[in-house]
Amino acid sequence: MKILDYIVVGSGCSGAMSAQTLVEAGKQVTMVDVGATNPKYHDMVPEKDFITLRKTDPEQYRYLLGSEIEGVSWAQIGKGAQITPARKHMYKHADTHLRMDSKNFFPIESLGYGGAGIGWGVQCWEYSDADMRMAGLDPQKMSQAYETVARRIGISGTNDGTGKYTLGTLKTYQPSPKMDRNHKYIMGKYDKHLKYFQKLGLHMGRTPLALLTKDKGNRKAYAYQDMDFYTDKHRSAWRPWIAVDELRKNNSFTYIGGYMVKTFKEKDDYVELVCVNVDTGKEESFYCRSLILGSGVLGTARIVLRSLGAKKRLPILCNPYTYIPCLQPAMVGKEAEPGKMGFAQLSLFLDENNDNVDTSVASLYSYQSLMMFRVIKQIPFLSFTDARVLMQWLMPGLVIMGVHHPDKHSDNKYMELVPDKHSATGDSLKVHYELGAEELAELDRREKKMVSAMRKTGTFALKRINPGYGASVHYAGTLPFSDEEKSFTLARNGRLHGTKKVFVADSSGFEYLPSRGVTFTLLANAHNVAEGVLAHGS
Ligand SMILES: Cc1cc2nc3c(=O)[nH]c(=O)nc-3n(C[C@H](O)[C@H](O)[C@H](O)COP(=O)(O)OP(=O)(O)OC[C@H]3O[C@@H](n4cnc5c(N)ncnc54)[C@H](O)[C@@H]3O)c2cc1C
Repeated sequence: MKILDYIVVGSGCSGAMSAQTLVEAGKQVTMVDVGATNPKYHDMVPEKDFITLRKTDPEQYRYLLGSEIEGVSWAQIGKGAQITPARKHMYKHADTHLRMDSKNFFPIESLGYGGAGIGWGVQCWEYSDADMRMAGLDPQKMSQAYETVARRIGISGTNDGTGKYTLGTLKTYQPSPKMDRNHKYIMGKYDKHLKYFQKLGLHMGRTPLALLTKDKGNRKAYAYQDMDFYTDKHRSAWRPWIAVDELRKNNSFTYIGGYMVKTFKEKDDYVELVCVNVDTGKEESFYCRSLILGSGVLGTARIVLRSLGAKKRLPILCNPYTYIPCLQPAMVGKEAEPGKMGFAQLSLFLDENNDNVDTSVASLYSYQSLMMFRVIKQIPFLSFTDARVLMQWLMPGLVIMGVHHPDKHSDNKYMELVPDKHSATGDSLKVHYELGAEELAELDRREKKMVSAMRKTGTFALKRINPGYGASVHYAGTLPFSDEEKSFTLARNGRLHGTKKVFVADSSGFEYLPSRGVTFTLLANAHNVAEGVLAHGS
């Protein structure tokens, strides 16, 4: 039996970042992961921009729709609407290995190489100090960790009047990418009506992104090809597999893919990790001195519930999310715009008490390189053929607002593991997630306020769509931080209470989930957890 020093589970954001910290400290690290890939699409996209490819490439359907047209779905638009054929491996094995049982919670989970980070939108806000305290995080430690993460992944942003909501105290960042015409138009109107917005507690600024606008090592500055949903060729957008690929060049790092962790068992001076080989279904064990779980909030909950063997309900946090297609009449009928991008460009914050806590945030996107079938089916009363002609005119004026709200624990948000004979692990995660009438009324009020104010920018909401709870893909709070040695909680350094050498690097410990995307903060926390593991000694 070979006992490894450190095992990190998962190649997603939290696994990649904690592994990088351990490797940079000179430790021998093994990553155990399912890590599904899809090499078929790697080199398929020619080195050209979206408009040129649409006009000239007879083979374009292969990467835009999928060589088996697997990218076309007539199901309801909701979670993961932007996941294209090249990224479908994000979902591989999820039906059999990550089974869910819920009537009101529909999360996105991934067993892909890079986890949900294969498709993430790279929006990287810092939490405010007040948000961090509510989440149980130490602002001072986090501020240093944000800086470390930003140096590693590369952030672009603008310290404009809204800097305190976006970049926070961050010092290491590149300039934001150029705005396209839809966003320039919105920003121009916002500036003109600044006082009106400020009076309402609304603040708009550039969205910080994990996207390079200057070259960094072997990653290239964003080339404005508008192919962001189809290829990562230039590696301008940071994705966790990019970090893991780099780690794999290092002799002190070993990657073991194709293994699904079922349980851990802590012995006197080592931890046994019991895994299932996803191809053969056979069980196999790995052994280590310290275990770091970066398996995503729901994945980690599954492993912990199985391992501790208790029938236990865990709490859950997830940002409520509403998707709002809007129209900018001033842009309708215009030619397609060269040099556009698929990432969010502006963020609108609602901070009515001016204290940077309990805010809601809307991210704004224009719509060009995602195929139109995703929106055509939202158009009422018209057949597909008629709607397609109409949409061709409307699309240049289409702006999507994605609104996220904060989330707090409640008795109506919980999960447990239940037996399931159809599951490769023998169980399903049963989740119940419900918001109370008061919470719903408050979210409705906030969204109406944002939608109404956006009219001042010449941007008119067509419809508010609730894609179902879980669709925000921001999860936390299942194993909340605690200063007491209580089961199913985490110590502040990420150690799972009741164990000596089992740590959790993802956002499972956060006691509150601010509206701003969780990922920059979970990356910083994963770095801090790895530092804590090092301080603890192997
Ligand atoms: C379309 C989309 C857009 C998004 N946009 C943003 C955004 O703009 N900003 C933002 O803040 N967040 C965004 N997110 C959310 C963000 O992707 C997640 O917060 C982040 O990826 C979570 O990282 P993680 O490492 O904690 O978990 P995951 O990404 O879920 O990674 C888990 C890893 O663990 C592995 N794993 C899981 N269980 C096991 C097991 N039992 N055994 C072995 N391996 C296992 C998986 O293979 C995977 O590699 C987005 C998500 C999606 C899907």
